[in-house]
Amino acid sequence: MNTTIIGSGVAAWTLVRELRKAAPEASIRVITADNGDFYSKPMLSNALASGKTAASLVMTPAAKLAEQQKVELMADTTVTAIDPSNRTLSTSAGDVQYDQLVLALGADTIRLPLEGNGAADVISVNDLNDYATFRTQLDGKTEVAVLGAGLIGCEFANDLLKANVHTTVFDLADRPLPRLLPAEGSAFMQAKLAAQGISWKLNRSVVRIDQSADGYTITDSTGETTTAQLVLSAVGLAPRTALAKSAGLEVKRGVVVDRLGKTSNPHIYALGDCAEYLGELVLPYIMPVMQVARAMAQTLAGTPTEYKFPAMPVVIKTPDCPTVVNPPLPGQAGQWEVTADENGVKALFKGPDGALLGMALLGEASKERQALAPQLPALI
Ligand SMILES: Cc1cc2nc3c(=O)[nH]c(=O)nc-3n(C[C@H](O)[C@H](O)[C@H](O)COP(=O)(O)OP(=O)(O)OC[C@H]3O[C@@H](n4cnc5c(N)ncnc54)[C@H](O)[C@@H]3O)c2cc1C
Repeated sequence: MNTTIIGSGVAAWTLVRELRKAAPEASIRVITADNGDFYSKPMLSNALASGKTAASLVMTPAAKLAEQQKVELMADTTVTAIDPSNRTLSTSAGDVQYDQLVLALGADTIRLPLEGNGAADVISVNDLNDYATFRTQLDGKTEVAVLGAGLIGCEFANDLLKANVHTTVFDLADRPLPRLLPAEGSAFMQAKLAAQGISWKLNRSVVRIDQSADGYTITDSTGETTTAQLVLSAVGLAPRTALAKSAGLEVKRGVVVDRLGKTSNPHIYALGDCAEYLGELVLPYIMPVMQVARAMAQTLAGTPTEYKFPAMPVVIKTPDCPTVVNPPLPGQAGQWEVTADENGVKALFKGPDGALLGMALLGEASKERQALAPQLPALI
């Protein structure tokens, strides 16, 4: 019985490790479009200040992992189609048969439709190769525009700040992290990072980017212009679903999976940033990957095991404003109770019965994470 995994991010390699533990003799193949080296993707947005290069971010080289885990590795190989009826993959290295298939395809960065002759130069950082390009292009620059004031945009802005690079952060929303923080939390983050030197241009969209003598001129929807030597986009991620869709699998925002991680085809599973769980949730974070990988390994090894999602608070890597969030589920009934002062914000989202359903802790209040996290309910 061969299990073939497409991808070599944290989802794929965590699943490999777990599956090897559950089934020491299993035949496992990993096919990946990149070189397969294992690295921590969250470090991409806080590696600059600590002087990390793309090479030094690699934690285990692919060949070593493949040997340790007894995996057939097809690196630098792109899967172009899945034929579920014959259980065959078309790849850039020829056709491959599988018995069980796992999609660990990750997500693509969203690109804004921008005008101007500098629009194509906008970069985003979503893997090690992107990070290497970012480092090269940043060399000697001191002024960067960041598009997007979400988690990744704020983290990059703070990391650039620590590396003595000034950033201007743009967003359509009127405050940073609007999907993760209540208004008081956003205001605190905005003020803390502004006090350290980050400039915010909120409530506007960037419409065009033109090349100029020393970089770029950015024009936004208010008509204002801003100059920068590099433009970094962090406006969001979209699950990679094209392969699954063309193979006829059910796809909504992500590849739809059940409680076993199984797609609408009984021999194909999905996890990580490409998957959509529980009929509505795309969870592009590390903790859900770990939970699903552990359970899926048991299932693939022959013991069907449903994954569980305990509360999974996310640490936002903005050292000038330490932040931990565990947002309530979309549409959940309840309201924020917020205590704020100049040292921090403690925001607790409580249900109609007073139960804690979510939290956002900033500044000093982030130290209360250990005490509060156990009170949060499991997702399932
Ligand atoms: C800058 C940044 C900071 C982050 N910070 C945090 C954080 O602090 N905390 C947190 O919890 N999460 C964070 N995240 C999110 C977290 O890193 C991701 O949820 C996680 O790494 C996703 O892993 P994955 O394996 O699903 O996808 P990926 O790591 O994207 O792996 C996808 C793999 O699929 C391969 N692939 C895709 N298509 C094909 C194909 N057709 N053929 C062959 N191979 C293919 C790719 O080459 C790649 O190897 C961050 C993300 C980013 C980008």
